[in-house]
Amino acid sequence: MGDRNTTTGAADGAAQAADASYDEVMEAAGRHARAWLSSVRERAIPPQATADDIKDRLGRELPETGEPDLEVIARLAESVEPGLIAIGSPRFYGWVIGGTQPVALGADWLVSAWDQNTGLRAITPGAVAVEELAGEWLLDLLGLPPQSDVGFTTGATMAQFSCMAAARNEVLRRAAWDVEADGLAGGPAVRYIAGEERHGTMDLAARYLGLGAPITVPADEQGRIRVDELAAVLAAGQGPAIVALQAGNIHSGAFDDFAAAIEVAHASGAWVHVDGAFGLWAAASPSLRHLTAGFEAADSWSTDAHKTLNVPYDCGIAIVRDPAAMRRALGMHASYLQATEVGADPHEKAPELSRRARGVPTWAVLRSLGREGVARLVDGLAEAARGIADGVGALPGVEVLNEVAFTQVCIALDSDEATEALSEHLWNEGEVLAMTSRWHGRAVVRFSVSNWRTDAAEVRRTVDAVARGLTAIRAETRPER
Ligand SMILES: *Cc1c(COP(=O)(O)O)cnc(C)c1O
Repeated sequence: MGDRNTTTGAADGAAQAADASYDEVMEAAGRHARAWLSSVRERAIPPQATADDIKDRLGRELPETGEPDLEVIARLAESVEPGLIAIGSPRFYGWVIGGTQPVALGADWLVSAWDQNTGLRAITPGAVAVEELAGEWLLDLLGLPPQSDVGFTTGATMAQFSCMAAARNEVLRRAAWDVEADGLAGGPAVRYIAGEERHGTMDLAARYLGLGAPITVPADEQGRIRVDELAAVLAAGQGPAIVALQAGNIHSGAFDDFAAAIEVAHASGAWVHVDGAFGLWAAASPSLRHLTAGFEAADSWSTDAHKTLNVPYDCGIAIVRDPAAMRRALGMHASYLQATEVGADPHEKAPELSRRARGVPTWAVLRSLGREGVARLVDGLAEAARGIADGVGALPGVEVLNEVAFTQVCIALDSDEATEALSEHLWNEGEVLAMTSRWHGRAVVRFSVSNWRTDAAEVRRTVDAVARGLTAIRAETRPER
């Protein structure tokens, strides 16, 4: 308040009252948020209540009359607390899910307070400027073509959708079919080709786009697409094609051989997309960048900031080399929208028209860490994964199943039952969370190292917890023998 340059001066009394009402609620929310954040490192990681328990605590009936804002905030924070999972714990390895860096959370609060509908460059220039810088910095950091369009989406799934929409329309346009005017029916079939260990959300994006199920290509023992098999699949068909490659297999962390695969795909005129939801960040580390060698020759890339970069949910990133292809697929025009001629409006690079300025926390992390800090963050995650593989792998009866090239570690015990019992023991103890999956026909416990605070001390605690788990499950099974 009170800055004459930025207020109209009208209705000052009313404005003051409104601001005070924000103050109280924000302070209360801030207190609850701090209480939660300070509990995250040491609390039991799994939720301690079910969704139905929490509905009972919140109260199930729609109230006839209202409740004061402060009571609503207190009811929310206190009722929900037992139903929260400590995703931000440095020993949370379930799925590929990052925590939240303080600067990212602070920036995210500003995004909500500013409440900028970030669709139009001329209308919300503050938020758009921050996102445009974040996009330019990301291209620089990852070594991707500087003229590419960068769109901010809810997650990697929708980033894949955005990139694949550009891909679908462009490969059809090259086949003289105008999908924007004529739709898909009656047009040439688009072959969607992907490795057999692709992430399931690639198929989801393809399904949203009417592309159907993929033509799958066999993978090698680490889950990398086999380039000889890709060449055979491409040669066996004809017409428009999209090839989806992967930076970071969710079980092994492995990266496809981009240089060879992209050369083969481009030779047959296919568009190449790279799903790098967490793996794309390897390119930001001088010591890990070799894993992504050649990936810059692709046509589009998708990643998440809410994983490796540790910004709060949600933020995915869609990158397309040819801005015209992206804007033809995702843009729209309407007389009431004040479109700009300078650069593209944000709504032309994402599936939404109206959205929050979710790219702002990404800018804050890049500003806070710098190029060196991002490299340290990525290196730290990979180093912790190697530490877990070494420590847990040295325990009796534990087999590490993957080459630990990046942030993923898959372990198995001598039977699927024992492997599942270990994960269950960890869940019940609450100090380490690592989930089971199936990989190459076996039950595995998967550690996805994604949290900015997972350091050597946390790795030691993790190995100790697994050792306790092994002792416990052996004690449980012995009497039956
Ligand atoms: C997490 C993940 C996705 C999906 O990302 P969302 O942010 O959950 O939409 C896609 N691909 C890979 C490899 C992933 O790890």
